[in-house]
Amino acid sequence: TSIKPRRPIVAGNWKLNPSTRAEAITLLKLLAANFLNNRNTNQSADTPETVIFPPLPYLSDAVEILEGTGIQVGAQDVGPNEKGAFTGEVAPSMLVSAGCSYVLLGHSERRTLFGETDEEINAKLHKSLEQPSLKVILCVGETLQEYENGLLESVVDSQIRKGLDGVDPAVLMNDRVIIAYEPVWAIGTGLVATPAQAQHAHVAIRNSLANMYDTEVAGSVRIQYGGSVTADSTEELMGENDVDGALVGGASLNADSFTRIYDGAT
Ligand code: PGA
Repeated sequence: TSIKPRRPIVAGNWKLNPSTRAEAITLLKLLAANFLNNRNTNQSADTPETVIFPPLPYLSDAVEILEGTGIQVGAQDVGPNEKGAFTGEVAPSMLVSAGCSYVLLGHSERRTLFGETDEEINAKLHKSLEQPSLKVILCVGETLQEYENGLLESVVDSQIRKGLDGVDPAVLMNDRVIIAYEPVWAIGTGLVATPAQAQHAHVAIRNSLANMYDTEVAGSVRIQYGGSVTADSTEELMGENDVDGALVGGASLNADSFTRIYDGAT
């Protein structure tokens, strides 16, 4: 693949899987073996940055088992509060102290199934960025109906503007926020966007960033594609100029598939 100005980033979103800690440990060990074998992630700017997002109860196992592999660990969501009487919540500082370097925010499943608003996502994002070592992957994307009604650009523009409201341009220039474009119609459906569709949407997102900030900031932000990515579709998607990585759901639950996706992004 061609040399791009931005370092590729491949991430695996395990969602609510697997069901047991024993299965999680098996998957983590397989991943570690694959990456320790013949890959050298995070050792140089030429290799894709790699992150996995397991469920909270498996985060410590992931941090421990993946040590030395270059694969980083993140949480699939976080709360907007620091500490205190917030039963059931998790704070960004807790993720950092557990060894996480990433947090995923605004996934479409959080938005639709749990009613998360752009304002809530923005509050979580600001709280996360208070942790100097924590990076955010902010997910945006339109539904099938919005896509068919020609609303892709306006939907992602609104999600970007509200999600990044009040975020300093330096934060983006410093690579603290990665955008994941995930069309809802492609998530878990097997209907991967074509490379051209992904490129079109990524350009729209970069235009939103350019309007909100400037072209330099827009050009520095990494934009991943997510939605039914497999090892077979990665290389072609990554061949597009503005596709800087992949956010992988289903295929990240198989160590060899996820490894092949990493290879396809390399
Ligand atoms: P999928 O999920 O790869 O299973 O479509 C992607 C995501 O929701 O992040």
